Amino acid sequence: MDSSLASIPSALARVRDRIANAAARAGRPAHAITLVAVSKMHPLEAVHTAIEAGQTVFGENRVQEAQAKFAGINAELHLIGALQTNKAKDAVRIASMIQSLDRPRLSDALHAALAADGDRPMLLIEVNVGDESQKSGVPRNQADAFINQCIHRFGNRVQGLMCVPPLGANPEPHFAWLADRAARHGLPVVSMGMSDDFEAAIRQGSTCVRVGTAIFGRRM
Ligand SMILES: *Cc1c(COP(=O)(O)O)cnc(C)c1O
Repeated sequence: MDSSLASIPSALARVRDRIANAAARAGRPAHAITLVAVSKMHPLEAVHTAIEAGQTVFGENRVQEAQAKFAGINAELHLIGALQTNKAKDAVRIASMIQSLDRPRLSDALHAALAADGDRPMLLIEVNVGDESQKSGVPRNQADAFINQCIHRFGNRVQGLMCVPPLGANPEPHFAWLADRAARHGLPVVSMGMSDDFEAAIRQGSTCVRVGTAIFGRRM
């Protein structure tokens, strides 16, 4: 096993510890926070190693890479990257959760792709909390209307909100804003926090952290 693979179990254990400590400081149980191990751009062997170390939930950005890697693997897969409408069918087939529902055309495409009686994938609505022009996510000032439309259309399948705050700025006000939006809409899941800021996200009420680098190392 090469050294990057060998370090995955201990890195994973360290991240789990940090999640538990951050949760305890916030007066929340550790099990209230789901750890999504973001395996994008890491090989299948890395996923296997994490599974052997007890990890059950993984995140990928691209549908094609996710299909190639996770076909036949017994793990929960979350799609967390910008999703093209022409990939909606494939996305629905492989994902247990799609975290990046962010515009009406994608809502239409997912609606068409979903089996009427299927209960997966669950959906999170991504909000562009920093209103950055190059980022995906529904703009902040359209978020309430879009969330309401999606809840009306998809019902309980819409579980919550997701964000990636602007790089280099203090993320906490953005995390606080997202958690407050989710609460106002009665949505239980708040997906926020990555390798560099998941403890701050947990302090602000995150229920789902998406951690790649701190588990798998730098992406090639
Ligand atoms: C890549 C990615 C992550 C993981 O980022 P790290 O900094 O490697 O932990 C989390 N969320 C999204 C949406 C990503 O694209």
